[in-house]
Amino acid sequence: MQEEFIKKGLQYLANTYNRFPIVVTKGEGCWVWDLNGRRYLDFLSGIAVCNLGHAHKNVVEGVVQQAHKLFHISNLFYIEPQIKAAELLCKHSFGDKVFFCNSGAEANEAAIKLARRYSWIKYGEDRYEIIVMENSFHGRTIATLTATGQKKFHEGFQPLLEGFRYCEFNDIDALKGCINSKTCAIMLELVQSEGGIYVADKEYIKELRKIADENDILLIFDEIQTGMGRTGRFFGYEHFHIEPDIMTLAKALGNGFPVGSMIAKEHVMDAFVPGTHASTFGGNPLAMSAVLATINTLIDDGVIKNCEKMGMYLREGLKRLKEKFSIITDIRGLGLIIGMELSINGDEILKEFMKEGIIINCTKGNILRLLPPLIITEEEIDLFLEIAERVFERFERRV
Ligand SMILES: *Cc1c(COP(=O)(O)O)cnc(C)c1O
Repeated sequence: MQEEFIKKGLQYLANTYNRFPIVVTKGEGCWVWDLNGRRYLDFLSGIAVCNLGHAHKNVVEGVVQQAHKLFHISNLFYIEPQIKAAELLCKHSFGDKVFFCNSGAEANEAAIKLARRYSWIKYGEDRYEIIVMENSFHGRTIATLTATGQKKFHEGFQPLLEGFRYCEFNDIDALKGCINSKTCAIMLELVQSEGGIYVADKEYIKELRKIADENDILLIFDEIQTGMGRTGRFFGYEHFHIEPDIMTLAKALGNGFPVGSMIAKEHVMDAFVPGTHASTFGGNPLAMSAVLATINTLIDDGVIKNCEKMGMYLREGLKRLKEKFSIITDIRGLGLIIGMELSINGDEILKEFMKEGIIINCTKGNILRLLPPLIITEEEIDLFLEIAERVFERFERRV
């Protein structure tokens, strides 16, 4: 039966993903089940989406209750759960106002438009350039693809959008060299995740904030992957003791319900007025019920603390594996966004993990990316480490 579905998938779906050869039909906590009833430990969380694990009862209840009341009504009206969600996001972040949309790319589009508009109002037509980082990832729409500093994603899609300048990540002198009279914003991830789990330096971010302040340049943090507790703080920027002017969220914002948001300081968000930006589905009641349940659970259930603790526990375990196996060349990350760099290609290793009942991801060909749900337990991490040891042993013998 599973084979049949996979065949049909290959026939009818756009070939935009290299898919794992299983059909996942059910999830609970850190575990998922395929169509044959086989169980897997999920160390990917739908790519940093299901931070509370699968089928979390609070999110399920929130969405089901809202579904009975009102699916959709449009932003021509005030929407109760949307206002509550915006208030919660502002109370727990640097932000004063929130724009809701449906995905990460859309959140970044909104941030790019807001930065341009803010600068246009204040400084006129010629100040629109956004500095973005080499090796970054910001999405697949034309604007966010342009913002993405990786050539392989650009191939065949030119001409890209005007007004972006690429800069070496974590290099303050390079940044100074990129700034000119046209610069209106700097946009970056605090942990480059698709790029291979590279964490921003504390000094670099501090300096970035200073330079942005001195030149009235907006600082945009793409926290689509690092937000919502993933790094062991509610938002990644809290590790750096500074605040951005604009932040984008998506992925775990609705714990699996498709939703994105762009959060900004009031004087920045004021550049948007009725007619400048919009989204039909953005902030729809159903999505907002998922956001409310997700935020409340992250806070009330100590999930972020657990992430910090389990992140340390997992990294310690991985470092022990690194001591043992020479094919593991680096362990890095923050909280539960962790990269394991290998001296060999990771594709075969992924397959072995899958055979052993564990789902992980690989980026850049040789960097294993671990993104377990933030509710993961010590027992589940121990199981992962035990299996990882078995898998690496097989590959260590081969090289
Ligand atoms: C996933 C991701 C995006 C794109 O989000 P989509 O919802 O896929 O459009 C943008 N930036 C970062 C850092 C991401 O991890």
